[in-house]
Amino acid sequence: MRAAPPPLAGGAPGADALRPLLGAVLDALRAGAEERGGPLPAGGPEAVARRTAALGAVLPETGTGPDEALRTLVHALAAGAADPADPLCAAHLHTPPLALAAAADLAASALNPSMDSWDQAPAASALETGVTAALAAEVFPDAPRPDALVTTGGTESNQLALLLARERHTGEGPLRTVVGANAHHSFRRAAWLLGLPAPVVVPTPRGTLDPEALDAALTATPGPLLVAATAGTTDEGLVDPLPALADVCAAHRADLHADAAYGGPLLFSRTHRRLLDGLDRARTVTVDLHKLGWQPAAAGLLAVRDTADLAPLAHTADYLNADDDTDAGLPDLLGRSPRTTRRPDVLKAAVTLRALGRTGLGALVDTCMDLAQDLADRIEKTPALDLRARPALTTVLFRPHDADDTAVAAIRRTLLTDGRAVLGRARADGRLWLKATLLNPHATPGDLDQLITLVEGSAHR
Ligand SMILES: *Cc1c(COP(=O)(O)O)cnc(C)c1O
Repeated sequence: MRAAPPPLAGGAPGADALRPLLGAVLDALRAGAEERGGPLPAGGPEAVARRTAALGAVLPETGTGPDEALRTLVHALAAGAADPADPLCAAHLHTPPLALAAAADLAASALNPSMDSWDQAPAASALETGVTAALAAEVFPDAPRPDALVTTGGTESNQLALLLARERHTGEGPLRTVVGANAHHSFRRAAWLLGLPAPVVVPTPRGTLDPEALDAALTATPGPLLVAATAGTTDEGLVDPLPALADVCAAHRADLHADAAYGGPLLFSRTHRRLLDGLDRARTVTVDLHKLGWQPAAAGLLAVRDTADLAPLAHTADYLNADDDTDAGLPDLLGRSPRTTRRPDVLKAAVTLRALGRTGLGALVDTCMDLAQDLADRIEKTPALDLRARPALTTVLFRPHDADDTAVAAIRRTLLTDGRAVLGRARADGRLWLKATLLNPHATPGDLDQLITLVEGSAHR
């Protein structure tokens, strides 16, 4: 006789099946974090790979059962995690997710709506419609019908921006993308994936895209043109001068895309939103909520000024959006992503927006902005360290005064291998810098001091 199949996550009985399993997961998360006792596991890649290999067979002939499997693997993942909830894990735009967003994501997994057709996601698709329209209206407050696509992140959003631009200019010759050297690497890949010429790269010696340099590049480049400006560069957290760049684009009839994957959520902050002035002059805007937005990945958006701008993505597959179904009033979702099966990533974001409100989210942004200024102050007061510049967003670049690039790289790897801190690296000014990306609103002044002490300590080993 066959054993009964394992319980399902959905339906009313699903909740009862999940409860004890969640207990096992939560116990293992706590025990794993306690065992790690720091921002990441000590010992480097070999030690972690050895411990993972020692977990036993990946596909045993007879299974170990849900409780053992969850406890073992969740414990191992937690003990071996680079955990952004630890304030000393501050390398990347790798956010510590809010507990409430992670809890909401559980419901998304349990119900498993798939966003490619209405008959797989009735309420989830209606929720997505409302949330994307509301978030797009934050980006484009004066646009008549702003809309946004939910994406896997800035990479996909930027690629879609190029795709929409390519389609807008069909028949006018190949679209040329013009980016600053400070722009995200995804533009290069997007152009390659879409069969477009490689982007024209404008040097950015001061870290941001200079309007005069852009003007010269656009003068020298035959159209059609798409300029990608950045609001929050990945390396330095700098914001390109959007209003001046928008003027240059208008003068050259070039389209403007703004990559605000990092900086976009400053829109929620009364104090800091003016840093994004001019964002609404872009044709398309990338925003990630899995950076300053505290969502578990993935939670990306591509905002457009008018829902009609998304028309090029329309696509029909008879089993998902047959014309007669659409004519009969079933919403056609397939044009809202180039993906087919798609998670309802909107749920966790919707829960977060509602639970915290604009004020709550803005306060989280402000806290991280203040932390970056605080860290910069402390670095300036540390004679052995050089600060690259006052932070514009939440990224702080610094390096020991007397270290060369090789020594800076070694400090980062030493801290990683010891499991004591996760710092990033960035090249600026022709030199290598340590990068702290502060996204953890629970970080304390003591944590910032500890980061400095750790760097000073490993500089002199
Ligand atoms: C993070 C980032 C991206 C890429 O976003 P993913 O979510 O990692 O795909 C693109 N642009 C900028 C400026 C970023 O900071």
